[in-house]
Amino acid sequence: MAFDLDKLTRDNIRKLVPYSSARDEFSGEAKVFLDANENSLGSPLTKWYNRYPDPHQRAIREKLSAIKGIGPEHIFLGNGSDECIDLLFRCFCEPGKDNTIICPPTYGMYEVSANINDVAVKKALLLEDFQLDLVHLENLADANTKIIWLCSPNNPTGNSLRREDVEMVLNNFDGIVVIDEAYINFARQKSFIQDLADYPNLVVMQTFSKAWGLAGLRVGMAFASEAIIELLGRVKPPYNISQASQELALRALEEVGQVNDMIRLLVDMREALSEVFRSMPGVEKVYPSDANFILVKIRDARQVYGFLLEKGIVVRDRSNVKLCEDCLRITVGTEQENTMLVNAMHDWYTR
Ligand SMILES: *Cc1c(COP(=O)(O)O)cnc(C)c1O
Repeated sequence: MAFDLDKLTRDNIRKLVPYSSARDEFSGEAKVFLDANENSLGSPLTKWYNRYPDPHQRAIREKLSAIKGIGPEHIFLGNGSDECIDLLFRCFCEPGKDNTIICPPTYGMYEVSANINDVAVKKALLLEDFQLDLVHLENLADANTKIIWLCSPNNPTGNSLRREDVEMVLNNFDGIVVIDEAYINFARQKSFIQDLADYPNLVVMQTFSKAWGLAGLRVGMAFASEAIIELLGRVKPPYNISQASQELALRALEEVGQVNDMIRLLVDMREALSEVFRSMPGVEKVYPSDANFILVKIRDARQVYGFLLEKGIVVRDRSNVKLCEDCLRITVGTEQENTMLVNAMHDWYTR
């Protein structure tokens, strides 16, 4: 069986007549806008925010197109990647009937979003080395499996998935394969965006929340075939990215150089911090990271977590997560924050 987007799409979505916003029905030159019931007098803020934003986010997508080297028709913007995740379920998974496959330990939102959409979740646990269990994946997939979620670099383990393994899934699964590249800017591996032309079933997700430093804006990206992007566009709320977020994201996109400097610095600090952890008493394993965080296996993980909290330092306790037993996930901070963390951990183990 070959990939057939039409067959994969839920009937109600295929037949959907999308909401046509005032901004959709009129696009051209005009001076007087009396079509959208906005407040024509203005707002308490500045004159721009009384108008609805561009539902198609054309300016950002054009700019992103130049940066990512892919046409704007292949780019979708969501209110964070989290909205992209939800929309993908709503486009392809029939509630109460279809299922999806995730590869834990991984990002928690795939499962939560599946549950919200009443989509059954099947789990192909990663192998000991945190790589894909291709045999298990193949055995789990059935006629109602619509989406497989791959996270690379993976959260919370930090590693990238082997490229050949990802390609194996893309080549052998006729549903949608999502590769969540939230941390790709910190990785040695290259993005799958340039491979979109080869895989009609591929969706690549990235975000402004990590390398771009804009988690507060809530802007996520999905890259896919024009047909998939069109589907996501019909299902999304028309004004899912606010005017403020659009303006600020656009401004940030002018500063690629500064962002690249931050990425280099964070990667350097990640490597330095990993080295410090490796020589620290109590640390059993420091997993190699392609992201802006480090997974460490340590003695008394739960207690260390509590001890750090008392010192006002919060890390992510993953010690109860399968395959991450006794592990903390630690985000790379500023030089000063990293030093505070290291000192506090040292205090615990030499107390
Ligand atoms: C942080 C993160 C995201 C980002 O989600 P946003 O909604 O864009 O902030 C997506 N995927 C993974 C795996 C993450 O860790």
